[in-house]
Amino acid sequence: MSSSLASSAATKPSSNTAKGESSAPTFAIIGAGLAGCTLARQLAEAGCHVDLFEKSRGTGGRLASCRIGNETADLGASWLEWEAKSTAHNLPFQDWLSEQEAAGHLHLWQPITQNFQREAQPERRRYVGHNRLSALTRSLIDHANIQLHSEVRIESVIPKIGAQGNRLLLTDTSHQELGKFDQVIVATPAPQAAPLLKAEPALQALAQQVQPDACWTLVLGFETPLSTPIELFEGEHPILRRVVRDSRKPGRHPAEDVWVIQARADWSLQMVDDEKEHVQKDLEHAFHQLLQSQPKADNARCHRWLYSTCTSLNLDSGFLHDPQTGLSVCGDWLAGFGFEASWQSAMALSHTLLSELKR
Ligand SMILES: Cc1cc2nc3c(=O)[nH]c(=O)nc-3n(C[C@H](O)[C@H](O)[C@H](O)COP(=O)(O)OP(=O)(O)OC[C@H]3O[C@@H](n4cnc5c(N)ncnc54)[C@H](O)[C@@H]3O)c2cc1C
Repeated sequence: MSSSLASSAATKPSSNTAKGESSAPTFAIIGAGLAGCTLARQLAEAGCHVDLFEKSRGTGGRLASCRIGNETADLGASWLEWEAKSTAHNLPFQDWLSEQEAAGHLHLWQPITQNFQREAQPERRRYVGHNRLSALTRSLIDHANIQLHSEVRIESVIPKIGAQGNRLLLTDTSHQELGKFDQVIVATPAPQAAPLLKAEPALQALAQQVQPDACWTLVLGFETPLSTPIELFEGEHPILRRVVRDSRKPGRHPAEDVWVIQARADWSLQMVDDEKEHVQKDLEHAFHQLLQSQPKADNARCHRWLYSTCTSLNLDSGFLHDPQTGLSVCGDWLAGFGFEASWQSAMALSHTLLSELKR
């Protein structure tokens, strides 16, 4: 693991220090989810130096994990996979997943699956991270040209015109200046991107059109494994979207039997402002009904995602980029649905930024 991962709010952006008078363009990415980390890796491999700002302690964003008792569980997306139908469009994503598997960053998981009516379901190729899904984003930014500044929430992106041309100034929530950059890429969910796009009202208006889905998620840990052989339930249910036996993912050897229960988007929206305890009770009840009276969990953790998946602008380009100011935006909400769209968006933007550099 590179030492850059240990960096924190106190770390100075490299563009203003190590690079000094260098004329190489300076890049800042806001958000260390799949989109931000994929883009950072592409730029870094092309020789660019990247400062990556993340408000949370770790990377992964909506691929985050959580602690449950002494174990870890995937709290966000449960795995990565490509769209059921294989097209020329998603071929690069399939190839990339296979490369990550070959490099040991992802494992193939083909869980024993039933729908909520308890009928067996066909196998699909799902990829999970080593110990947790966010291990993937950590491996992506393990590069000497990437400096992560974790626990830094960017408050504003301000255009500055100076002797060196147009640059973008980043400030944090305590109004501290974090440096001026030639290119700033916002790689956050749309509602978090909108305030950062104030300087470009047309881009901001696009971000404001996007509707995020909420997702209540309950993680349960059992010291004694449950008696069912099933590892995944999904399909039609009035409350549940998916029930995942996280502890059965390959590469994990937890002492507890850990289950992640995701609620449907419409139910989550209906319950969005409800007490956590109330939501937990409803989800636990649905889980116990599904598995027909199992013991009470030894550990439980309930989390409300305000942004899980979202509507998409489905732009042909897959990203937003203003070559005049150097401000760009990438993420799932620009390119389609979910993690595949985040990856596609970041890859497409990296090609544009790198071809501009060559010119
Ligand atoms: C419970 C759940 C289930 C899901 N299931 C699926 C699924 O089945 N299929 C699918 O395709 N997708 C699914 N998704 C969606 C998928 O996880 C996302 O589409 C994808 O991970 C988004 O990646 P991203 O990099 O675009 O954004 P994110 O992962 O949201 O990354 C953005 C990052 O920006 C950071 N950030 C935000 N604002 C700031 C700021 N001001 N300063 C600094 N940092 C900031 C955030 O902390 C975050 O780390 C699911 C998500 C959740 C939560």
